[in-house]
Amino acid sequence: MTVLVIGAGAAGIAAARRLRDLGRDALVLEAGPRIGGRAVTDHSLGAPVDLGASWLHQAEDNPLTPLAQRLGFTLHDTAQGTNRRRRDLLLLADGSVAGEADRAAFEAAADAFDDAAEAAVAAGSPDRPLSDVVPRDGPWAATASHWLAAMINAAEAEGQSLHDYVATGLDGWNPQVQEGVGTLVARLAEGLPIRTGCAVHRLRCDAAGVTAEGPGGPWHGEAAIVTVSTGVLAAGGIVFDPALPATVQAAIAGLPLGLLSKVALRATTEAAKLGLRDFARLGRQVAGAEDSPLSWMLWPFGRDIAQAFIGGRRAWQLAAEGPAAAEVEARAELARYFGADTVSRAFPDPALVTTWGEDPLFRGAYSHAIPGQAGARALLRDAALAGGRLRLAGEATHARFAATVGGAWSSGEHAAEQVHAALA
Ligand SMILES: Cc1cc2nc3c(=O)[nH]c(=O)nc-3n(C[C@H](O)[C@H](O)[C@H](O)COP(=O)(O)OP(=O)(O)OC[C@H]3O[C@@H](n4cnc5c(N)ncnc54)[C@H](O)[C@@H]3O)c2cc1C
Repeated sequence: MTVLVIGAGAAGIAAARRLRDLGRDALVLEAGPRIGGRAVTDHSLGAPVDLGASWLHQAEDNPLTPLAQRLGFTLHDTAQGTNRRRRDLLLLADGSVAGEADRAAFEAAADAFDDAAEAAVAAGSPDRPLSDVVPRDGPWAATASHWLAAMINAAEAEGQSLHDYVATGLDGWNPQVQEGVGTLVARLAEGLPIRTGCAVHRLRCDAAGVTAEGPGGPWHGEAAIVTVSTGVLAAGGIVFDPALPATVQAAIAGLPLGLLSKVALRATTEAAKLGLRDFARLGRQVAGAEDSPLSWMLWPFGRDIAQAFIGGRRAWQLAAEGPAAAEVEARAELARYFGADTVSRAFPDPALVTTWGEDPLFRGAYSHAIPGQAGARALLRDAALAGGRLRLAGEATHARFAATVGGAWSSGEHAAEQVHAALA
């Protein structure tokens, strides 16, 4: 009999590969029209643009690194040996360009943010909002918090668990994949039994096994691995029969998805790269309580693409207004650096805007634990439901590399091994 895998993102693909290696039949049921989930590479701007994951974080420990290298994908560390917090162009709150001292002050504030969080955990602090323990004073404290919480973790520090923030912190080699992370994940799915357009709306577990119901179904298996996002699970995207235990439901609710949106613009050749190096990074000092600056990466791999990132609360607000609002905001932000005329001349075409927050198959970008829920990831990872025949996987269930494509991959492999052992 078959093991049903619900969702064909990184976790589902990894689970199916592992089951195959263990000699078990798998059937992957994917609601959407494509595979890869939050790892997808778009080509509509004439070059690969990753709409979701684009970095292989902590690549020395990332399970996708050796797979990418074996398949001949090109990995490139975009920081090029510099401090990852370094900005090629940093604007001060008054709109002027920061000099070396201010750029160094921003980097020091970002280091102080992480140091304070780590020190609080090391000193035995109970779990609490991350914002409780990080520096609040000084000209760069709000900017450091905006960058490390709202942008990197896709949620403001007030809503994040201190312990989860520290436990899932990333460091080390941080390359991008020239061909696209989405291209890599899709390649790794080749030959797997995946059916797209097969949404699972109900999952029933009984003595006979597991039955997945939805248009095109039902599908029967002896076990199932569910890899849909915690956003989808919390919204009731799949009804479980019997219902999930209250502890599991609480853990799902404790791991909401934050939002990171991307806006990609293609430049004309006359833009002459605006005088910036490939992979140039732009950022701006937070100018007040309501200010949520976008950050930018320009000319990745020498391409004529400028990509904006919008994180946290502001990303949700713009998502509610629709993609046109995010494009307007991105163009206005870029105009702060180069002037509105230059921006409209350099980027005449419509932007590509991601819609992760609005899409019912995802409902956000990636998970963070809310204060007090630092143990939720391990609880989901270890939940052996229906006598071990139902397992949860996906980025939110990885206690160390949560929110990453590598963490999703490892979680899928782990769930496959657990199901295999339960069926033995
Ligand atoms: C903008 C953005 C930037 C990111 N940047 C990075 C980065 O640089 N590096 C990094 O490592 N990670 C990054 N991530 C995170 C990374 O993409 C995710 O952690 C990872 O891809 C999640 O994989 P998953 O398999 O857990 O979930 P998903 O990719 O969400 O896969 C779940 C699948 O389930 C499907 N599904 C949903 N509902 C149903 C249903 N009812 N029935 C059947 N199928 C269903 C979905 O369509 C989806 O394909 C980023 C994400 C975003 C959105």
